[in-house]
Amino acid sequence: MSDQAFDIIIIGAGPGGYTMAIRCAQLGMKTAVVESRATLGGTCLNVGCIPSKALLQSSEHFHAAGHGFATHGIKVGKLDLDLPAMMKQKQSVVDASTKGIEFLFKKNKITWLKGTGKLLGGGKVEVSGESKGTYSAKHIVIATGSEVTPLKGIEIDEKQVVSSTGALTLGGVPKTMVVIGGGVIGLELGSVWSRLGADVTVVEFLDRILPTNDGEVSKQMQRILTKQGMKFKLSTKVTAAKAGKGGVTLTLEPAAGGAAEEMKADVVLVSIGRRPYTAGVGLEAAGVQLDERGRVKTDGHFQTTAPGVYAIGDCIAGPMLAHKAEEEGVVLAEMLAGQKPHINYDAIPSVVYTWPEVAAVGKTEEELKAAGVAYKAGKFPFTANARARAMTMTDGFVKILEDEKTKKVVGAHIIGPDAGHLIQELVMAIEFGASAEDIYRTCHAHPALTEAVKEAALAVDGRTINI
Ligand code: FAD
Ligand code: NAD
Repeated sequence: MSDQAFDIIIIGAGPGGYTMAIRCAQLGMKTAVVESRATLGGTCLNVGCIPSKALLQSSEHFHAAGHGFATHGIKVGKLDLDLPAMMKQKQSVVDASTKGIEFLFKKNKITWLKGTGKLLGGGKVEVSGESKGTYSAKHIVIATGSEVTPLKGIEIDEKQVVSSTGALTLGGVPKTMVVIGGGVIGLELGSVWSRLGADVTVVEFLDRILPTNDGEVSKQMQRILTKQGMKFKLSTKVTAAKAGKGGVTLTLEPAAGGAAEEMKADVVLVSIGRRPYTAGVGLEAAGVQLDERGRVKTDGHFQTTAPGVYAIGDCIAGPMLAHKAEEEGVVLAEMLAGQKPHINYDAIPSVVYTWPEVAAVGKTEEELKAAGVAYKAGKFPFTANARARAMTMTDGFVKILEDEKTKKVVGAHIIGPDAGHLIQELVMAIEFGASAEDIYRTCHAHPALTEAVKEAALAVDGRTINI
């Protein structure tokens, strides 16, 4: 095989592409990844999951030092924010993560083709950039990810009107910030700047924040975040945003139409969703079709409409989550190696890294009702969990939904401290077809937050102990 010929070429080195490349290499395939960014890791490691979680962690420490320590008998002097140092810390986490992928590529003998990849058809990929040339492979995978969905009439300058990328690198704490879109990015990055001192207002088009989460979770999260100082304008749309010297002037209207109002903000964050990124990949020439929402059309087994061309991650249907992209990469690698792996889309967790965190897996109550599924719900509040009380973090609850007929857990929803870790027990429960009884008959350590999961499982059968 020449230097230009591979078993597999993956376009895009995000969580989908890089994880797949490593699995392909483990399975003995000669693997190349085309990536146009200067560093590996895609959106997630460079401008997504990792920098946002670094800032969430740092801002949480800042907020706790200012607000949470006194209850524990700890007095701090005047609190000072060193934003450049906080940003430096964030960048060091990003650098360690992206360099880590570069190390893994070398370790697994994966070729990084530096530049932009374009399908030429017939198993060929043209790369423009540092690794300029034409390369061939038996299999080609599109893992080009997603980009910010723009809002009509609003220009993102990444200074005053920012996307998530700009919101991760602001040079100072804005006095006022308007977040357009009360979804995951809006609440996470809104929380960061709110904790650091900004007056944050979230403008949401629908009548609730986190609209894809369980309805009870949305309502309670809004209450909790309001208590923390965030403001919300629901059922409202932004029709214009003009940046000027004195800040940004926004025009707001009721979502259903009506009288417009104006609002001013130092910084506006546009976070109304992300859309698949497929520009310039040469899809049309290669016979790769898109669906009605601009996603690469696949057959459920990652095969696109062009033979030998596959797609995974944010650029295809399904939740835009790093771990979903990773799972798909691993499954596709194993399928191409002749194995029979599986992916269970009902057992993909989602976590919103606010404080408290919001975590979910499986169906919401609304979805079960709409599908006519009879279910039992068991709920347990963190106010009744001793460990949460010791942490002074008693906001939230664990809710478990069990199908009445099959006795299987079909959904779980948590608001609470470390909900993102707690949810994993329920992901396992769904994956293994466990019942609530399977969970509560499993011994849980004491005193631990996980006991709230056990108690919610007990609540499904109406037999909680600690409430
Ligand atoms: P991407 O990570 O988008 O990677 C695609 C890569 O392909 C990019 O590096 C791009 O440069 C490259 N590329 C595109 N076209 C070409 C081409 N023609 N040639 C060469 N290279 C190309 N998800 C979570 O699960 N947890 C989180 O906490 C989380 N936080 C997030 C926070 C923010 C602010 C954002 C924006 C996203 C977050 N996400 C999170 C979502 C997560 O980042 C994505 O789901 C994930 O990155 C998708 O992985 P991917 O491999 O499909 O694509
Ligand atoms: P989102 O889909 O989570 O939220 C967008 C919100 O904007 C929704 O509530 C929607 O109703 C609202 N909206 C849409 N149009 C609007 C308008 N014109 N005016 C006001 N509100 C409007 O999208 P996002 O927060 O931008 O995040 C994008 C993707 O990135 C998500 O799919 C998410 O999965 C992923 N992400 C995940 C994490 C995580 O897993 N922790 C973190 C960040 C991002």
